[in-house]
Amino acid sequence: MPPRRPGGGGLPTIRAVNLLNADLHCHSVVSDGTLEPEALAQRAKANGVELWALTDHDEVDGQRRAADAARRLGLDYLSGCEISVSFIGITVHIVGLGFDADDAALRDGLAATRGGRGERAQAMSDALAQVGIKGAFEGALRHAGNPALISRTHFARFLVESGVCQSTDEVFRRFLTEGKPGYVPHRWASLGDAVRWITAAGGLAVIAHPGRYNFTPTQEYALFSEFIGHGGRGVEVITGSHNSADYLKYADMALEFGLLASRGSDFHSPEESHTDLGTLPDLPGRLNPVWSALQHRVQRA
Ligand code: AMP
Ligand code: MN
Ligand code: MN
Ligand code: MN
Repeated sequence: MPPRRPGGGGLPTIRAVNLLNADLHCHSVVSDGTLEPEALAQRAKANGVELWALTDHDEVDGQRRAADAARRLGLDYLSGCEISVSFIGITVHIVGLGFDADDAALRDGLAATRGGRGERAQAMSDALAQVGIKGAFEGALRHAGNPALISRTHFARFLVESGVCQSTDEVFRRFLTEGKPGYVPHRWASLGDAVRWITAAGGLAVIAHPGRYNFTPTQEYALFSEFIGHGGRGVEVITGSHNSADYLKYADMALEFGLLASRGSDFHSPEESHTDLGTLPDLPGRLNPVWSALQHRVQRA
């Protein structure tokens, strides 16, 4: 059944703008992806993406390269980043789109957010040593294109490389998630700060992959309400991290909370990612896409 507008007389709502092949979430070697920004741009173009954003974790250093590569390929571009936030003790990701990547307050905020990663990585390495896995800090660092962004993903690649696990998924399951031996809790940015950095830089803040956090309904309601209270405007509905039940659930929540809807693969690597750039289902026709509100921020090819 096609989606229907609530109370809209039963006719399906079809909006051409929703059919745009927008992919507004992915990672390069600037954070925890394995491809350079230029290679991602090429892959996006080859896969039919029409509007692209590179959203590295806590860093905007790849933005110029991504935008330049997109322009050379005839691909429309929005600036992007994915900010790590601690909300009621749980890590939540907030995607920023269409901001000024040179904004000083945003850059300072991101620098502060990523500041603790080195120490955390050392603590993770010490914890892994306790269960017999030696040299994890140095091993993870070899996989980090940007040492300031050393992340759990780089530890996962080292543990696969050294034969401890068969896949990065297995590493997260056995070692790097809460309650497992290599997990070290960390305090990231506050929700309000992240939303304000993005918004004050002219961008639009989006809750990334809400289906991944395992919140209770009450906690999830609090996240959405507080996010909107801080000026947040969007939510990812169609993402590589959601299943088809999540698509429906978060489409309903976008409408309930009056949020714009986003779409992005969260592509990290040809070897590891289950969803390639530009290959997700279309945004449901009943939703308002984030890109409708960001037309003035698109860097046209
Ligand atoms: P960090 O920012 O260091 O905590 O690392 C978070 C990153 O780890 C995410 O952006 C994902 O790329 C990756 N990640 C988190 N959870 C998983 C998981 N269960 N399986 C695979 N990758 C994951
Ligand atoms: Mn990642
Ligand atoms: Mn994320
Ligand atoms: Mn991501």
